[in-house]
Formats: sequence, C-alpha cells, structure tokens
Amino acid sequence: MLVVGTGGLGCPVAIALARAGVGTLGLADDDDVDVSNLHRQILFERKDVGTPKTVAAARALRELAPGVAIEVHETRLLPTNAVDLALRYDLVVEGSDNFATKFLAADAAHLTKKPIVHAAAVRWHGTALAVGPGGKPCYRCLFEDVPRENAPNCAEAGVIGPMVGVIGAAQADLALSVLGGDDVFGTLFTFDGKTLASRRRRIASRPSCELCGEANVIRSVDGARYAPVACDL
Ligand SMILES: [Zn+2]
Repeated sequence: MLVVGTGGLGCPVAIALARAGVGTLGLADDDDVDVSNLHRQILFERKDVGTPKTVAAARALRELAPGVAIEVHETRLLPTNAVDLALRYDLVVEGSDNFATKFLAADAAHLTKKPIVHAAAVRWHGTALAVGPGGKPCYRCLFEDVPRENAPNCAEAGVIGPMVGVIGAAQADLALSVLGGDDVFGTLFTFDGKTLASRRRRIASRPSCELCGEANVIRSVDGARYAPVACDL
C-alpha cells in the first residue's frame, strides 16, 4: 500500500496497516517533523524534530512491525511521480493536507486502476471515502476540482488531535476491507468530533465528472491542473 502523506492521518493509518501485516508500505511525504506536529502525529517523538517525516516514520514502523517492508519516498506526490508511485502498489491511502495532492492522488489512482481510500480531517470534522479501481463514484464526483479561492488555510483551520486518530482508524479499516475484497466503495463516512455522531451515505456518480464520467476528460496527470492551494475539508 502507498500511504500519501505521513502526517496526522498517515501516522495512525500506517501503524494500523503495519500491525495488520500488510506486505509492503510505501510512505510519500516531503515534510520534516515539526514540534507543532507532535500532539497528533503519533509516530513521532521530540527527538525526531527536523527529521524527514518519512524517515522518522519508517524507523518507528520497523520497530513496531519488523516483518513489514517499509519503502521511503522522500517526496511530495507530484504530477511527475504520481502515476509511477501508484503503479508500484496495490492500493493508495491518501491522507494529505492539501487539495492539490488529494486531486492528484485521485487522478493517478484512477488512471492506473488502483483502488484509493481518501481521508481528511479539519477542526472537528472528518471524512473518509473508498474508490474502486478506475471506479465511480470518485473523489471528483464529490469535490469536482481543486478550489481556486476561499479555501481555508490549514494553519488557521487546524485540526483537533483526536480527530485524526478516529478518521485514520476508519481509513485503515476501509483499506483493509478493500484488500479483503469487500465492496466498501462509494460510501462517504463522516464523523463529527463534537457530538461523536458518525454517518454513512452513498454518494452518486456524476455523469459530467471529468475523471470517471462519460466524456473521459482527464486522461493524464497534467501539472497545471494541480496548482497548490491552501487546505482540505
Ligand atoms: Zn467521478
């Protein structure tokens, strides 16, 4: 499995998948551990501050699950590497913190016919969604395209630490279900951290979707499509 983003969501997801004994875990991230990450990015300790997240996460995961092969990709998911990275794995687990990476991961997974499990957590709100290999509905059926304006800034929006534990666990659960052959695709899981209310609802595919719709608009990953903007929801 390829884990895109080794942050608040990537940490609990990687722990759960490694302890479940998945054969190979790839970690893709270009960020270093910051002291402000430690309350929610539970693979890291104070001594890891300044270390690349993928390197620190790999070290911790090898301790937790020596039988699992951990592959470090010390890079952000980019239009130049996304398809190659997706092709190397059976499933993509996307818990990145920005829209550009989320849409790029969605497109790369779709084009390579790999299943993908998306997740996001902002403030007290979290979501998780599994999409089948080349399947519909997809992430773009729900969110259409990278927002060009009025997207909340991650640093300002923030996330409550325990939220990423809940959503990360749900995301890992979906990933293991996909590996087990269960049809969990196309159901959006949402969780409200204030009321502890969770909800599941089927989402509909959009015939006009640029990724999975009939027009088949997106046939490759084009860098211009993923202009970096602020934050996810
Ligand atoms: Zn779609």
